[in-house]
Formats: sequence, C-alpha cells, structure tokens
Amino acid sequence: MAEVTVKQFAETVGIPVDRLLTQLDAAGIKVAGSDANISDADKGKLLGHLRQSHGRSDGGGDGGEPSKITLKRKTTSAIKLGGSQGRTVNVEVRKKRTYVKRDPEAAKAEAEKLAAEAAAAAVAAKTAAEASAGPVPGSLAPMPKVEKKAETKVEAPAEAVAEKPAPEAPEVVEEKPVEPVAEKVAEAPAEKPKAEPAPVAKEAPKKTLSSSQEKAEALARAEQGRLRKAAELKAEEAAAAKAAVESRKRAEIDAKRRAEEAVKAEADRKLAAETAKLQAEKAKDAPGRRKVADKQPARAPAGRGNARGRPGGGGPGGRGGRGGGRKGRRRAEPEVNVDTSHGFEKPVAAVVRDVTIPETITVGELAQEMAVKATEVVKVMMGMGVMATINQPIDQDTATLVVEEMGHNAIMGKAETAESDLIDTGIEDERETVPRPPVVTIMGHVDHGKTSLLDYIRTTKITSDEAGGITQHMGAYHVETDKGVVSFLDTPGHAAFSSMRARGAKVTDVIILVVAADDGVMPQTEEAIKHAKAAGVPIIVAVNKMDKPEADPDRVRNELSAKEIVPEEWGGDVPFINVSAHTGEGVDDLLDALILQAEVLELVAPVIGAASGSVVEASLEKGRGPVATVLVQKGTLKKGDVVVCGQHFGRVRAMFDELGKEVQTAGPSIPVQLLGMSGVPEAGDSVNVVDDERKAREVAEFRYSHARENKLAKQQAAKLEEMFNTMENGERQTVDLLLKADVHGSSEALAESLMALSTDEVAVKIVSRGVGGITESDVQLAATSGAVIIAFNVRADATARRLISETGVDVKYYSIIYEAIDDVRDAMSGMLSPEVRENFLGYAEVREVFRSSSHGPIAGCLVTDGSVKRANPIRVLRDEVVVFEGELESLRRFKDEAKEVVAGTECGIGVKSYNDVQPGDRIECFERVEIARSL
Ligand code: GDP
Repeated sequence: MAEVTVKQFAETVGIPVDRLLTQLDAAGIKVAGSDANISDADKGKLLGHLRQSHGRSDGGGDGGEPSKITLKRKTTSAIKLGGSQGRTVNVEVRKKRTYVKRDPEAAKAEAEKLAAEAAAAAVAAKTAAEASAGPVPGSLAPMPKVEKKAETKVEAPAEAVAEKPAPEAPEVVEEKPVEPVAEKVAEAPAEKPKAEPAPVAKEAPKKTLSSSQEKAEALARAEQGRLRKAAELKAEEAAAAKAAVESRKRAEIDAKRRAEEAVKAEADRKLAAETAKLQAEKAKDAPGRRKVADKQPARAPAGRGNARGRPGGGGPGGRGGRGGGRKGRRRAEPEVNVDTSHGFEKPVAAVVRDVTIPETITVGELAQEMAVKATEVVKVMMGMGVMATINQPIDQDTATLVVEEMGHNAIMGKAETAESDLIDTGIEDERETVPRPPVVTIMGHVDHGKTSLLDYIRTTKITSDEAGGITQHMGAYHVETDKGVVSFLDTPGHAAFSSMRARGAKVTDVIILVVAADDGVMPQTEEAIKHAKAAGVPIIVAVNKMDKPEADPDRVRNELSAKEIVPEEWGGDVPFINVSAHTGEGVDDLLDALILQAEVLELVAPVIGAASGSVVEASLEKGRGPVATVLVQKGTLKKGDVVVCGQHFGRVRAMFDELGKEVQTAGPSIPVQLLGMSGVPEAGDSVNVVDDERKAREVAEFRYSHARENKLAKQQAAKLEEMFNTMENGERQTVDLLLKADVHGSSEALAESLMALSTDEVAVKIVSRGVGGITESDVQLAATSGAVIIAFNVRADATARRLISETGVDVKYYSIIYEAIDDVRDAMSGMLSPEVRENFLGYAEVREVFRSSSHGPIAGCLVTDGSVKRANPIRVLRDEVVVFEGELESLRRFKDEAKEVVAGTECGIGVKSYNDVQPGDRIECFERVEIARSL
C-alpha cells in the first residue's frame, strides 16, 4: 500500500484524526502531524499496539481475545417504474458483515476449542429456539436470502465446525445490523454502535458456554426475539473458526474473489485494530448496544421490505468501496433495472402527411387520406365556413385548403391518372405515322352560304360513284376530291364547336370562314374569328356569293383586316379565296388552298394500331340504339373493337360511312357512325379502343362517377338565396324564373304578376313558361340559365326529380298565386341595398378653439339647435359651406365626458382627424339610419 498521510489514514479507518494521533503516540510512532506520511511499517506497529491494548483493556483471562470488525455497506439505486406517472423508487440496500479476528497466536489454539464451544452453543441455541418456537422461525424467516450473500465468509467454518443452525444464525446477525448503525459509524459519536456488538459477542459466548444458566439466558433472549444474540455469539465462534481457515479458503476460491478478499482483508485488519480499541473505549455503552441489538431482528425484515418496496432512509452511502463486492448482490442490481425498464416511446412530433387530392374527393376519403376522423375534417370545414357531410364530394381547391389547415401537405392529383393507367396511350408515340387528310370546319354568319358551299363540294367534287349518294346527315363527311381527301365537320353552329373544344376534342385542322361578299363581316363572322383564334386553328376565308353583282370582295378583305385577318396578298397569312357556291367559281382554288394548308400543317397520324378519336355527334335512334358519329384521329377503328366512348363503352357492332354504307375499318380523319355503345355519348367525348370489355367498363364507370362527383362538387346551384347573395351592387339585377303551371291561365297571370314586380334595380325575367309538369328539359334549362323554377299546382316527374337533385336547381312549389308573388317580392327586397337616411340632430356654434395635448384642438361650442351626440357623424360648416365631414371624437361638458349635449348648453367638441376648426364655424351633428327597403 502506498504511503498515506495520517489524516487520510484516519479517514480510511474512519476515526477522528486526533484519536489516531493519540493512538500513534501511544504506540510510540512519531509523526509530525496530521499531514505527515505514515508508512506501512508504522501501520503494522500501530496495529500491534492496538491489539495489545485491546487485549489488555478487555482484561479477560483469555488474553488474545478475538477482535471484531464490522463492515457495512450501503448501496442506493433508483428504480424507474414503468407506470403512467413514471414514479421512481429509491432502493437502499444495507449490508453489514462482521469479521472476528483472533490474535494470530491464540487463534489457532482457540479455534478448535471455540469450535467445540460453538457446537455446544449452537445446540443450545437450537434447543432454545425449538423450545421457544414462535420467535425463532420469525427471526429466521429472512435468512435464506441472507445466507447466499454471507455465504463466502461463513459457510466454510460453519459447515466445518458447527451444525447447520449454527452457521445460519451468525449469518443473520451479520446481515441484520442494519443501518441506523452504519450511518452513525461515519461520525465520531456513532462509534458506539460499532463498538457494541463486539463486547456482547465476547461476553455472550463465555456466558453461554460456561453454564446452563447462560443457555437459559440465551433461551430467554430468543424468546424475546433476541435469538440473534445467541446467533451473534455463534457468529463470532464461526468467525473464529473461519479466521483459522480463512487463508485456505481464499486459496480455494476463484482468482477474482481472492483479489477482492485480499484487499478487503487488509482493510479488515486495520479496522479490526481500530475497532478493538473503540470497543474497549465504548465497552460501557453495552446496554445501549443491547437496545440496538434488540431492535435489529425486528428491523431487519423491515429493512428488506424497504429495499424492495419503498424508498429507503436515504443518507450517504459513503462506504461502498470498502465492503468488498458480493457477486450475487452486484448482479441483482442491474437485473432490477432491466426488469423495470419499459419500451414505450411517446411520439414527439406531429405526423405530416402528403395527401394527394384528386379533382373531387369526399370528406370521408379525405379524412382517410390524412388518417384523421371524418368528424375532424367536418369540424375544420365548419371552422372555414363550409358545411359538409361525410359523404359529400368536395372539389380540389376546398380539399387543399382543408388539408393545409390540418397541417398536411396537399398534392394536386390528376383525375386522369386512373384513366391513363387503364388506357395505354404510350404506344402511340412509337407508331409509324403517315400523312392524313385535313379535317375542316366551315364557319360563318348565317345565310352566308356555308351549307351551299359544302353541298357544292359534296355533290360536285367527290368521285362520281358516290355523287348524290349521301343519304343521311351525320355531322361529318369525308370527300375524296381530285385534290385529295378532305373531311368536313358539319357542326350546328359555333357553340357546338366550342363545346367540343371544351371537352378537349381538338378535331379541326382548318377553318373555312365563309363571308358573303355582298354582306361583309357580320356578328357571327366575328364570333367565328374568336373561336378560331381561341382554338389556334388556321383560317381560310371563302368570300362567297361572288356571282352576285353587288359582291364586293375587297370590302370583306378590308373588314377582316380590321379584325386581324389579313389576306395573303396584302402581306398577311390568311388565304382569301373568292368563290360562289352557286356557280362553283373558285371552289377548286379553295380545295387547293385546303390541301396546301394541310401540307403546311404536316398533318400526320399513325394508321396502325388501336384507334382513338372524338365523338362528333351522337343520338339515340329507334331500332339502332345509341348511334355515335366518331372522327377517327389515330389508328384504325375496326368492327368488333371494344371502345370506351366518354362515359360509355361497348363493342363496335357496326360502322357506317356518310353514305350509310357499312364499313369494316376507318382510318385517321375518317368519320364513321358506330353502333353498339352502352349509352349516348356527348359531342367532344373521346373514343378509345381498349384491350377488353372489362377494362372498358372500368374506365367508363370511373368516368361516370368522376363526372358525377365533379358536377355535384362544382355545380352552382341556382338557389334563390344564393342568387341574391352573388348580386353585385349598382347593377340592375335580374331574378330569373322558369314558370310551370297547371293551366295556361294561371301561368299567364303568374307571369304578369311577377313581371310587374320589376323595379329599376331588380328585374324579373321569365326564362320560360309553360303548362304541365316539370320535365327534364325544364330542369336543364333552369340549370343552364341559373333560373329558379316556380311550380304552380304542378310537380316534377321522376326523371326531372332526379335531375333536380343532381343539379341542385331550386324548385318552389305553390298553390296560391299570392304566395308565389310574396315570396318573389321578399326575395327581391333582399336584393335591394338598404336605404341610408340622415337624421339631423343639432347644431353647435364654435366660440373658441382650445389646444389639448391629448385631443388636439377642442372647439368650445354652444349647442344652438337640437342636441349633439358623441360618436355620431358631423359636418363642419363655414359660411354654410361644408368644409369637413367626419366623426365627433370627444364631447365634454367642462371636464366631464358627455354622451349628449342639448341646445343652450356649452360644450367642448373634438373632431376626429380635423385640426382646422375655427371660431365661427358651425358643427352639424347628424345620424345615419339604414332603412330596409321593400318593393
Ligand atoms: P348558311 O346559313 O350559311 O348555311 O347559308 P346557306 O347555305 O343556307 O345559304 C343561304 C342563302 O344564300 C341561300 O338562299 C343560298 O341559295 C344563298 N347562297 C348561298 N351561296 C350563294 C352563292 O354563292 N351565290 C348566291 N347568289 N347565293 C348563294
């Protein structure tokens, strides 16, 4: 051991420095002071001296009386319980071991003697314990646990020397001296308890062994729960025996333990020396010790209980290092921690999801996407001012707001995704393309000769065998002229063209704008130009009716140039061809121009592969079912193909060309009529050939449900109330009504009465009126014109009802004419902005102007007329001219704020944001009153 200072040594052995110095002095060791070093030799000398003095102080005839050393160890640990409150239990484990060491010389001699004595004592104790029954088992109860811990020390001697009960008893004693003692040991006054066990131990064996009275006494103690004493005695005996065999035993145990024991033994020896002396000094405190000993049996189990269940007494566990380790104990501690650890991890951050939103989504689906309850979404929407039910479809914009409101990322999805998954369009790009015929739409003002021109071309410019063969109208024709094939779309008006375009159908390559040379540019001509420009389709102008004497083609060119349709010959890019549908003049040139334009446009399309195209028009025909005129745009459509046609699907049962002739195939730019669809598609719907009918059905159903949801989500229901809300101020508003009545008379009367309600600001417009029940077309009309249906003594039929619920058209049913009139009047009244009237309140004359630091200028006034009220509008009049209009900010009577000051009274008036008030000004006070208006 390295040299240490006296002070450190004193700390090590746990006695005050002063006492150690005294002891050193007594042992004849010279030290300079508490900071002087003390060598191992000196320590040995001191030990020897102390042993000697210990022997003397005990004074017994035994001479080498065994010295005793008690080691205490206290460990504290905290166990976290996995409960919801996360409680922590402090566990304090206290251990005490007592070693008894005999004088080396005497030890051997005594060992055998003591062993015999111990055996006798053990027998006595056992007998006593058995006799007294009760307390013994109680006190021994905790022993098994103890046994393990103390095993290393006591086991061997006990087994070797004594019978079973003997070793057990001492172990109990060793373990039980629980900590009140241990804590005190650290302090000087606490030395007492430490010293106590020794004398008892010493005395007890002697007495016990010497006579049967002693046995009786031991018995008595056992009965009082002090069997421990006997045990203690035996402990010493066993320890004595152990001392004899200790070195041998150490050799037997494993290297690690031996190392520990060696260290411990050294400490033990030193402590033993110290303890011996302390014992001598404190021998007189024996009774006190007894008390402690008495308590121990009771406390030991309690102490153990504490260790497991409740927080221990706390206190510093300062001596942990000295007690030496017991493996069992050490192992046990981490086990406790492991057992009580728990695996629950509380999420610490909100989960932000990426929510893909299709064009429409129901509230329930949206909630599912965000992994929240649908009611949460409904609640959030209510917070945003949108009332929605769980199954209600909402549009993409609303859904995006909701998703962002709820802290997630909204990703705009495309509804086509599902569709494009099903319809494989990728193949088209790889297909070989070939030139295709141009598709031409003829536009122009009414009566400018569109039909005549088309007819001329059809009848004169097509190959002879087809001439005159056109038997039916099908909205599109292809004509094989000398110059090449041209397909014409014969759409009914410009709106149809636009609606087709709105459906995404870009079918027209070139527009022929027909302008009558004798008429010039007319409104529909302008409209056609707009449509063409919007669609980005090149125009060829056909200046028609050139046969007419009054034809003035230059006028047409001039007027069109003004519309940015500049003729090629004037430096523009639009071919102008003078034609006559009657004489056929210029028609060849027109076709040439068309073919040229097609070449410029490099119109190509794949011929091979699955066809795709657009619906030009469709109808339901008797005996044929749904008939769709389809313009093939890519690939080749064949009879028997499975097609998806808008929201419908089917297998092509038969195909006909414009001549009514059945055809087997149709290539790009060729219009055909096809039969076999599941329903009537709409103009502009796309047509796609798909692999099988199942896929076709899926796509069609998807489109149907999607279209329906879209309609519901986006429909602008023509609710009466909503209509009024959307009205803008200042314009003459209209209330659009669709009247249906039981008889013509009431329809007329109602219409007249309602029309009479019109005022300058709100007009009643009867969109349509009729007799009979509400039909599907009524609802359709009301929906498109945003009208409210007034139903007088009539009801809607089944299909109309379905459409009403789909479109959300507002239908009001009446059976009394005045009720209908009153309702409409009330609704219209709601549309009138309320009238605001001014009520004069009073005049105040400014006499003087004061400056207030807080209010700015204050006009000292006298109220001359009526009264002046605070927080009302005022006007400042100077020479009867209004110089300022604003609000009365402060009104005071002397120092007090006043609400109203009446005529004849003086007051101070502060005017908000007006600093230029002057004496002599007049302040006019008035109030504004809103008056609801009625018709
Ligand atoms: P759309 O309404 O544009 O289709 O015009 P139409 O083709 O129905 O023709 C309207 C009227 O103009 C008819 O009476 C035709 O006979 C007449 N018309 C059309 N083209 C010509 C033309 O080139 N010369 C003359 N003189 N009359 C024409």
